[in-house]
Amino acid sequence: MKHVLVTGGAGYIGSHACKALAAAGYVPVTFDNLVYGHRSAVRWGPFVHGDISDRAALDAALRTWQPVAVMHFAAFAYVGESVTNPGKYYRNNVVGTLTLLEAMRDAGVKQFVFSSTCATYGVPSCVPISEDHAQNPINAYGASKLMIERMLKDFNSAHSMRSMCLRYFNAAGADSECETGEAHDPETHLIPLVLDAAAGVRPNVTVFGTDYPTSDGTCVRDYIHVTDLAQAHVLALQALQAGAASTAYNLGNGKGFSVRQVIDVAQQVTGLNVPVVLGAQRAGDPPALVGDARRIQAELGWQPKHADLADIIGTAWRWHQMQRMASK
Ligand code: UDP
Repeated sequence: MKHVLVTGGAGYIGSHACKALAAAGYVPVTFDNLVYGHRSAVRWGPFVHGDISDRAALDAALRTWQPVAVMHFAAFAYVGESVTNPGKYYRNNVVGTLTLLEAMRDAGVKQFVFSSTCATYGVPSCVPISEDHAQNPINAYGASKLMIERMLKDFNSAHSMRSMCLRYFNAAGADSECETGEAHDPETHLIPLVLDAAAGVRPNVTVFGTDYPTSDGTCVRDYIHVTDLAQAHVLALQALQAGAASTAYNLGNGKGFSVRQVIDVAQQVTGLNVPVVLGAQRAGDPPALVGDARRIQAELGWQPKHADLADIIGTAWRWHQMQRMASK
C-alpha cells in the first residue's frame, strides 16, 4: 500500500482529501497539530499528532510511514488575521513548510502536492484569472503561500523534488455523505456564517463592504466544492507518480458570485431568512476573484461534479444541520 503523508489532514480540506486518497487506494497518514483540526475528522488512515515546525516529529513520521509523497494542507488561513498578525503567518506557513521540505529532502521523499491559493494573485488585472496571471498578493496569507511556491521551484532545481501547486479559489460545501465538513473555530468564512444566521445560531451575518466596483457592490468569489478540490489533489498526485513535471493549477468553477448572491442562494436552499447587517470592507479582500481552471481540466482531466452554487450550499447545509443535531 502506498502511504501519503497529509499535513493538516484533520482540517476541512485535508480531511476531504484523505477520504479521496483512501478511495483511490492510498493510505493517508494525517500529520496534524490539532490547533485547528479535529481528531474526529481523521477517519481514513493513521494519525500522527505533530507540528510541521517540529523537525524531529517530521523525521520520525517520514521514517515510520515511508510515504511516496506529501500532501501539504497544514497552514494558517485567515486572511484578515494575516493582515493584523503577519508574523504568525510567515512563521507557521513559510518557516514550517521549509522545515517540512528539508525533512522530505533528507528522507528522499520527492513528490509534493501543495495547497496554494488564489490569494497569491492579489487584485487581478482581469478575470477569470489564469495560472499565468501575475502574482502580487495583497495580504500576508497570500504572500506566505507564494513564498512556498518559490521554495518549491528551488527545491525542484536543487533536489529534484517535483510539486503540484493547486491554487484554490473559495473552498465550500461538505462531503455528500456527511462524513466530514467545515468546522472552523473561529468561523470566519461566508457560507458557514450565512448558514448559522439562517439557523438562528448567530443573529445575523455582516456583509463586508457594499462599495466594491462589482455589479451589486459586494465582493465576488468563485466557490468550489471541497470534494471537487479533494479529487484534484488525487489527480495531481497520480500525475506526479506518473512522472509529471512540476506545475501549478487553478481550481475554481470559472463563475463568480457576490456576497449578496450567496446569501440569496442560501435563503433558497434552506427556505429560511438570513438576517443581514451591512458592514465595512475587510482588510486584504480583493473585489473579485474568479478562476480559470481550464488547464487542469485539459491536462489532468479534472471535472467538477458540484459546480452549481445551490448544490455546494446544499451539501454545506446538510452537514451544518447534522452538526447542530449532534451537539444538542
Ligand atoms: N464575507 C462577508 N462576511 C463574512 C465573511 C466573509 O461579507 O462574515 C465576504 C468576504 O469579504 C469575501 C467573501 O465573503 O469577499 C468570502 O470570504 P471568506 O472569508 O469565506 O473566504 P476568503 O475569500 O477570505 O477566502
